[in-house]
Amino acid sequence: MDYQKVFSEMAAEVDYIEDHGKVPSYIPELQNVDPNKFGIHLTTIDGQNFYLGDSNEKFSIQSIAKVFSLVLAFGLEDDRLWERVGVEPSGTPFNSLVQLEYEKGIPRNPFINAGALVICDILVSRLEHPKREILDFVRGVSGNPAIEYCSRVAESEKLTSFTNAALINLMKAYSNIHNDIDVVLDVYFHLCSIEMTCQELAQGLLFLANNGVNPFAEKRVVSESKSKRINAIMQLCGFYDEAGEFSFKVGLPGKSGVGGGIIAIYPGHYSIAVWSPKLNAKGNSYKGMRILEFLTTRTKASIF
Ligand code: GLU
Repeated sequence: MDYQKVFSEMAAEVDYIEDHGKVPSYIPELQNVDPNKFGIHLTTIDGQNFYLGDSNEKFSIQSIAKVFSLVLAFGLEDDRLWERVGVEPSGTPFNSLVQLEYEKGIPRNPFINAGALVICDILVSRLEHPKREILDFVRGVSGNPAIEYCSRVAESEKLTSFTNAALINLMKAYSNIHNDIDVVLDVYFHLCSIEMTCQELAQGLLFLANNGVNPFAEKRVVSESKSKRINAIMQLCGFYDEAGEFSFKVGLPGKSGVGGGIIAIYPGHYSIAVWSPKLNAKGNSYKGMRILEFLTTRTKASIF
């Protein structure tokens, strides 16, 4: 596949797309970003790299970090994990409370906020120093020991954490949170505050395009079967109540974050990260989705 040619065409497309999204305001610190930033980085499993724009600039990966926390928790718990969190699309916004009461404190999947909070609770139970070990894991798979949490973003989220606090309290009432609520929330806010570049993200999650093995380090991160399942959850749940739309338009497993990032995986081929801070009404990067749709349309290659 001639990705270089597609990326040259993409450069024109990026300028052509009118960005209708908005930078989110519910985490105040996330507004301190230039809304017109745009970066994209594609890494193939045989080591080719294609990139455009601000692909080497760090941004707040927010919910994309939930892929890393899921990988860690799944590795530690195996199938016991699914007793505390489901694998079904939610069809509701990322921070929705309604289903949780009907479903007795068991979140639909690990990517909605409630599910990610349960995953953080598991990591708090299983790891001696959860924040340090999560960061070490992300640094390890991405090959960059300088990846950091952003304490300003974590603090900003803590100050406006009313909905996440409501979610975790409800789950605690259903005995699906085992640790102290403030400890788990602190891990969650730090997880979401990780800052990475498109290049680091594409590299860091490339193992999901390669049956669980990081092709550069030649290191297995997860088993083949777990890699398949994580991709399946990304396909069905990675974009909240827009997961169907992303599947329909892009046709790849992926995960978005309210920092404007999206990671998408083409199993057997590549991983790609895109960053454009303005979000659509469902909380996913407006331009990011459009450009990934352009990519899979032009290359005529998706999982379908
Ligand atoms: N930290 C954000 C929150 O909990 C993550 C949401 C997202 O990126 O989708 O609200």
